[in-house]
Amino acid sequence: MAGIYIHIPYCKSKCIYCDFYSTPQVATMEQYVHSLLCEARLRKTELSSPITTLYIGGGTPSVLPLELVAEIVNGLHEVFDLSLIEEFTIEVNPDDVSPHYITALRQLGINRVSMGVQSFNDNELHAINRRHTSQQAIEAVRAIQDSGIGNMSIDLIYGLPEQSLDSWQRNVEQAIGLDVRHISAYCLSYEPGTRLWVMREQGKVQEASDELCVAMHTTLVSKLEQAGFEHYEISNFAKPGYRSQHNSNYWNFTPYLGLGAAAHSFDGTNRRFNPSNIKEYIKALSENRTVFTMEELEWWERHDEEVMVRLRTSDGLDTTVIAKHYGSNASDTLLRKARPFINQGLLNQKGTILTLTPQGVMMSDHIIRTLMWD
Ligand code: SF4
Repeated sequence: MAGIYIHIPYCKSKCIYCDFYSTPQVATMEQYVHSLLCEARLRKTELSSPITTLYIGGGTPSVLPLELVAEIVNGLHEVFDLSLIEEFTIEVNPDDVSPHYITALRQLGINRVSMGVQSFNDNELHAINRRHTSQQAIEAVRAIQDSGIGNMSIDLIYGLPEQSLDSWQRNVEQAIGLDVRHISAYCLSYEPGTRLWVMREQGKVQEASDELCVAMHTTLVSKLEQAGFEHYEISNFAKPGYRSQHNSNYWNFTPYLGLGAAAHSFDGTNRRFNPSNIKEYIKALSENRTVFTMEELEWWERHDEEVMVRLRTSDGLDTTVIAKHYGSNASDTLLRKARPFINQGLLNQKGTILTLTPQGVMMSDHIIRTLMWD
């Protein structure tokens, strides 16, 4: 089993909290798509297992005109055997969605859509410089559902500037009412280099308190669980049968090939990183050469990553897997460090499996840091 990730590093404008690599300079889009397919041809032998998931993310992939999306999909079919694809996701922004666009995506074989909604409150959307309104998001959800793509996810953010607990509750209720199958919800984070970071430094916005964020997370979990969602990863909720296969594969350390500027890949042992620079990327591919740098992970770096991602999931961290991958000394050390959290009710131990309790989720960063090797 393996996946392919395609990165589209273009956005019409920048959301104030975003530190992803993206640019509004869309003039290079066509050349970029040719470079993507060139990279696919050069790296096609890197994946040795059958490809079961395909994910076009960004940036904003829906800024691409349909002809370029079709060129990517058709080009990938020429390079890879995609006959075993079970999940083919594209990320979209609400302001790009029209019935025509979505129907065409479906005809290209896309069977899952992930849409960045972030909030259903126009003041909150305006405060973070999103390009769409709440009404546009609702209409986009309906257009996607009407197209026959039932497998749809939306992203929400809590802890937004000036956002109250009441407002967040209404956001969650609105999301539930739209009958989407998957919801990803993140607490707003202040990243260096973003406009949001600068605004906080200047005293123009105030960060939500830890107490408020915990209350928002608690509300989120309880409302979504009541509505029949499984809380299968700290930030991810799915109706039964609708977990994200592509992201679950990341969390299971399944190999994937990432194509495009700023994309990274994992072959089961090492990671490869493409530069976050469209010009450099296009230039290299026009000379028929790949442009990634390889990072050989030390065993303890792989251990730490595995502890972190597995513990974030509801399936949890199996200490026999740690023993198998890193030796019994690593699993014994892990259990020794986990013991105080188990005693405090922050971690559950069932047989060989450790999972975060609801209280543990609130302190997950601290717990995971403590369980790391070094
Ligand atoms: S649309 Fe997404 S990728 Fe683009 S700036 Fe906003 S959050 Fe970042």
